[in-house]
Amino acid sequence: MIIKPRIKGFLCTTAHPVGCAKDVGQQISHVRAQGVIENGPKRVLIIGASGGYGLASRITAAFGCGAATIGVFFERPAQKNRTASAGWYKTAAFTDLATAEGLYAENINGDAFSAEVKQATIDLIREDLGQIDLVVYSVAAPARQLSDGSVVRSTLKPIGEPFDGVTIDFNTAELRAVSLEPASPEEVADTVKVMGGDDWELWIAALLEAGVLSEGCVTTNYTYLGSEVTWPIYYHGTIGKAKEDLDRAAKALQAPMAGINGKAYVVVMKGLLTLAASAIPGMSVYLSLLFHAMKKAGTHEGCIEQTTRLFSTQLFNQPSFDEAARIRMDDLEMMPDIQAYVKENWDKVNAETLDQLTDFAGYRQAFLEMHGFGFADVDYEAEVDAALDIKLAFGH
Ligand code: NAD
Repeated sequence: MIIKPRIKGFLCTTAHPVGCAKDVGQQISHVRAQGVIENGPKRVLIIGASGGYGLASRITAAFGCGAATIGVFFERPAQKNRTASAGWYKTAAFTDLATAEGLYAENINGDAFSAEVKQATIDLIREDLGQIDLVVYSVAAPARQLSDGSVVRSTLKPIGEPFDGVTIDFNTAELRAVSLEPASPEEVADTVKVMGGDDWELWIAALLEAGVLSEGCVTTNYTYLGSEVTWPIYYHGTIGKAKEDLDRAAKALQAPMAGINGKAYVVVMKGLLTLAASAIPGMSVYLSLLFHAMKKAGTHEGCIEQTTRLFSTQLFNQPSFDEAARIRMDDLEMMPDIQAYVKENWDKVNAETLDQLTDFAGYRQAFLEMHGFGFADVDYEAEVDAALDIKLAFGH
């Protein structure tokens, strides 16, 4: 199959296996260049392991700490004339490269919210690794099936007041107005059920009960606070309520984790383009301005730079906390000069100023690369095998 990007709105419905492998290879090279991470974990479970921050955490754990990894994710294999999802191809590449390095890498493709996937993960840990030293929870999901079979959806809406913002079309670079009515109380509650801390707590309870977490085990969950300009749609919106719930869950997990001398941390990560982030209305303008300011200041980081810095300077090395007991990895994003640039230019972004004030070109490039496109040394005219297999311990 010859595979080209097919972009609709903020979605790209195709992915390129060679480009996805290239992306994983580049992330591994970054981790290798930073050297071995001292005191790192040796057996790591990543829930949400195939994209964005979860995949980067897996790569840092494997190639920075020499860890055995189990990845849980929800990805689509190729079908007939349809490519697999980017996360499928990236996991295939990661598994091959980790295995070639002599590192254990097993995969579970299924719904992390289900009791079945939790049990399959516990069985696999018992069989192969005995116990886990680090559990990274990095799921970003649009919906959750509850134990009674009903499905609740996560929404990205403001609370209390309508939201009027602007979004940038990936294909045409045109700016389009977005207006969203405030969420209903039910939509807020549903978003908290999907993206809040409940499932993280269920995972940790199940893993503790099964005795598969090691003495001193650490668990993390990733949050985002962001800038004042995005608060109306992000931190003060439905997703912000879910993120507040993570702080509650981290507190609630302290006592059960203390039983094994373990810790539960919420970590504030930097705003970056991932599949989950590309769906947030208005985020393209913020991230394009942010990338411009941070690249100019020489402080821009991607997911892999963030997770590698998190592992080497915080998680296993006397972490420092903010007033809400969170680890902050958004320090460079929040620098006053960076935020001042974003705020000053927020209302000035239009079709004429887009290229001059923002790094929309870099943002679009990151979007293409996320799906395995836009790499200069990949031949996109060549026939490729879209039906790559992944070694799966559970799921298909
Ligand atoms: P992503 O879309 O790149 O990755 C999401 C992962 O969740 C994928 O591995 C996907 O397969 C998995 N997943 C989705 N539904 C699942 C299900 N039902 N069962 C099992 N796995 C499932 O997203 P991301 O941006 O890396 O987000 C991960 C976390 O990081 C989220 O909590 C997000 O809010 C947080 N975060 C993101 C940013 C950002 O700017 N992207 C910033 C700070 C924090």
